[in-house]
Amino acid sequence: MSAMKLAVMGAAGRMGRELIRAVHATGGDAVVAGAVVAGAIERPGSNAIGQDAGELAGIGRIGVPVTADPLDIIAKVDGILDFTVPEVSVEIAGLAANARIVHVVGTTGLTAENDAAIKAAGRHATIIKAGNMSLGVNLLVAVTRKVAQALDADFDIEVLEMHHKHKVDAPSGTALMLGEAAAEGRAVSLAETSVRSRDGHTGARKRGDIGFATLRGGNVVGEHSVIFAAEGERIVLSHIATDRGIFARGAVKAALWGRGKGPGLFTMADVLGI
Ligand code: NAD
Repeated sequence: MSAMKLAVMGAAGRMGRELIRAVHATGGDAVVAGAVVAGAIERPGSNAIGQDAGELAGIGRIGVPVTADPLDIIAKVDGILDFTVPEVSVEIAGLAANARIVHVVGTTGLTAENDAAIKAAGRHATIIKAGNMSLGVNLLVAVTRKVAQALDADFDIEVLEMHHKHKVDAPSGTALMLGEAAAEGRAVSLAETSVRSRDGHTGARKRGDIGFATLRGGNVVGEHSVIFAAEGERIVLSHIATDRGIFARGAVKAALWGRGKGPGLFTMADVLGI
C-alpha cells in the first residue's frame, strides 16, 4: 500500500508543528507504507501561509507550502489531522464527510452541539476523536473505569489537572474523559454528579459527586490525577506528559488505523484495542 497522504490543520500551532514532525517521522514513501505530509493549512491571515511546512516544524524543507484553503487540500489527501478550535473542527468534519476521508480530531472544548455535528459527519467520514491521543492516558482512562467500578461512593472521586498557561478551555478534555470513565464505572451520569468549581461557602461535599480542579501555569504539557479518597486511605492514579510528541504520534497512529475502515465515529480506545 502506498503511503497515506495526510494534511495538518492548524499547522503553525503547538500541536500542528508536532503533527508535521510525527507524520514525517513515519518515513512513508511508495515502498514503506507510512504517511506523508501532503498538505498544511493555517487560518487566513496567519504569518505561516506560504512557508514550507517542514521548515515551520523545524525539520527542513519538505516541499509542502502552508495554505489557507482546506477545500483544495482535502480533495487531495487520505486524511486530515486537526488540533485546532471547535468551530474549525466541526467545519472540517463536514468537508471530510463530503470527501469520505479520515478525520482525526484532537481539538478539545467541544460543546454538545459540536459533538453532535461531528457525530453526524461520521456517517460518511472515518472520524477518530479523543480529548487525549496518548497511549498512557487512554490506559489511565480504562484503569479509572475499573477502579470506579470496584469502589463504592465511600470513595470520593476528584480529577485534578494542570496545563500550560496558554490553554483556553477548562477542565481539559482529558480530565473530562477521566470523569466520564469514573462515572461510567459507577454507573452514574457525569452531568448529574460533576462539580466543576468550588468557591466561597460551598457546603460539605455531596456523597457521589465527581469533582474537578484545574491548575494553569508555565509550560506544563499535561498532568492528570484521579483521586479516590476515603476515610483512612486514598488511591491516586496519575499520568504526566512531558512531551507533546505522544499526542502527535497517537494521532498519526489513529489516522493509519482509520485508513480503509469505512465511515464511523471512533475513539483512541478503538485504535489501541483497549
Ligand atoms: P494552538 O493555539 O497552538 O494551535 C491551534 C492552531 O490552529 C493555531 O495555529 C491556529 O492559528 C490554528 N487555526 C485556528 N483557526 C484555524 C483555521 N480556520 N484554519 C486553520 N488553522 C486554524 O493550540 P494547541 O496547543 O496546538 O492545541 C490545539 C487544540 O488541541 C486544543 O483544543 C488543545 O486542547 C488540543 N490538544 C489535544 C490533545 C489530544 O491529545 N487530543 C493534545 C494537546 C492539545
